[in-house]
Amino acid sequence: MTFGFHMPVKLRFGSGCVSQYGEELAALGSKALIVCGRNSARTNGSLGDVQQTLAQYGRTCVVFDQVDANPGIDCVYEGAAFARAQGVDFVVAVGGGSPMDAAKAIALLACQDVPREALFSGHYGPEVLPMAHVPTTAGTGSEVTPYAVLTNIQAQTKMSMASPVLFPKIAFLDPRYLAYMPKATAVHTAADALSHLVEGMLSVKANPLSDALALEGLRRLSACLTPLEREACTREDYEALLYASTLGGMVIAQTSTVAVHVMGYPLTYHHHLDHGLANGLLLPPFLRFTVRHRPERVDEILKALGLTDVEAFERRMKSLLGKPPVLPQSDLAGYARRCAQIPKIANTIVPPNQQDMLAIYQAALSE
Ligand code: FE
Repeated sequence: MTFGFHMPVKLRFGSGCVSQYGEELAALGSKALIVCGRNSARTNGSLGDVQQTLAQYGRTCVVFDQVDANPGIDCVYEGAAFARAQGVDFVVAVGGGSPMDAAKAIALLACQDVPREALFSGHYGPEVLPMAHVPTTAGTGSEVTPYAVLTNIQAQTKMSMASPVLFPKIAFLDPRYLAYMPKATAVHTAADALSHLVEGMLSVKANPLSDALALEGLRRLSACLTPLEREACTREDYEALLYASTLGGMVIAQTSTVAVHVMGYPLTYHHHLDHGLANGLLLPPFLRFTVRHRPERVDEILKALGLTDVEAFERRMKSLLGKPPVLPQSDLAGYARRCAQIPKIANTIVPPNQQDMLAIYQAALSE
């Protein structure tokens, strides 16, 4: 057996962890750029906790709250220019995947002149502002990954910056913030976490340790799906959700994502489907496709979820996500054609070809 495993992020998990471990946050620098969205970080208390903790340790901060859902390239260059003008020396990301990913790009661009055409090259110098990430949704796992996913208008899809320099230094995981998510956000982000755990198992880069984390994440997540659907999550459910989504991040940090994420991006870009919803809709037909070739691998996933077969998984996801939108056939054919050209598809243990992908799209996005 040979494999590698790299996870350089320090985790602090638990209620009140930002203030409890404030010293570790303050040790990152003297002036922070807090990157967040426009609203949620204020309503769920996370921004207040970070600001209060920084003040307590004599650190100053400025807030960049211009990060919308699915941030684009302009947003991160703007954030980096603001960081430079303000002379900050560390970054604190507060929120869901959008601010957490934008913060990584901003931390890099604040230190390096990366031309726009080279933004997704993955070839960056080592300079980056130290980062702390405070997730307030349970889906992306960005707090423990070396990826920053941004919308690229030129490529008409979402694209990923990937480099070990994009790992945050610390992740503060406080499940209390999750209770403020609207139901759709909670369900869609959980579907994203589920997708990371499943895709990690179906990646050519899966290894015994990433499998162990993925299976633990799937077991934890499966127990929360019904409470999520009924909007009846307890404190323990939110803990499990956040734990599972961080495990999902640790998994894809090793394995990266596979065909499901590649296929989900055009649905988000062109039809504004939430990232997690797009993945969640594609997962059942993708598993149905994969089980024909690698039944033992799919069985491991289903067993961890407490399900007997792919049909049970389909029913579970339908009940969780509701009716899918119906999209024009010609659009789906175009996305399948484009996805077939994307090298990352080869990261999938059973890589679907263009016809397979069209069939998966059609099954996912019909009544
Ligand atoms: Fe994702």
